[in-house]
Amino acid sequence: MKELEDRIRQDGTVKPGNVLKVDAFLNHQCDVELFDHMGAEWARLFAGKHIDKILTIEASGIGIACCAARHFGNVPVVFAKKTQSINLDGEQYVTRIYSFTKQREFPVIVAKRFLNAGEHILLIDDFLANGKAMNGLIELCGKAGVVIEGIGIAVEKGFQSGGRELRDAGYEVESLAIVSSMDAGTGTIEFA
Ligand code: 5GP
Repeated sequence: MKELEDRIRQDGTVKPGNVLKVDAFLNHQCDVELFDHMGAEWARLFAGKHIDKILTIEASGIGIACCAARHFGNVPVVFAKKTQSINLDGEQYVTRIYSFTKQREFPVIVAKRFLNAGEHILLIDDFLANGKAMNGLIELCGKAGVVIEGIGIAVEKGFQSGGRELRDAGYEVESLAIVSSMDAGTGTIEFA
């Protein structure tokens, strides 16, 4: 998606450790018009698929998933939580993932009542690197017995293994920008 690639070139910065910082429009300050265009693009890419619900993970998945839902017939958006809380009542699906950016393990939690067996789910997240976050969501989907219709990613870092592994496993992964290489020294970002 050219608009997203242009924005990454304009406002993205490359940090040591293969981290692309896009907090000016995606991870801290949010460009809602861009999010809306991203949602429209996923709707085009997944046209013909029946989607009952979108599942994402807090925090940065929530905004893009909610904007996307407007283009999928206003389906509900469920976001997996990364911390236990007294507000999380009832039975839960729980797994653990290793966070690429925070460099530690987190629980990933969804209340059972929000994922019903047989529902058709679109998974959405901001970044795909090694696939740990997405595999955590996929594991919860497996426990819930829902059908994964596809995976929508804003920025895939194509030089990390997550995207290839998910496609090899048979999932339709639609990434709106695929970074093929980036360099913290020169600041260069190239797209596939
Ligand atoms: P994975 O689990 O695929 O290794 O990493 C994806 C998760 O880590 C995303 O949910 C995202 O929050 C975070 N992440 C991974 N790489 C980057 C990156 O380069 N930049 C930012 N901002 N987040 C990243």
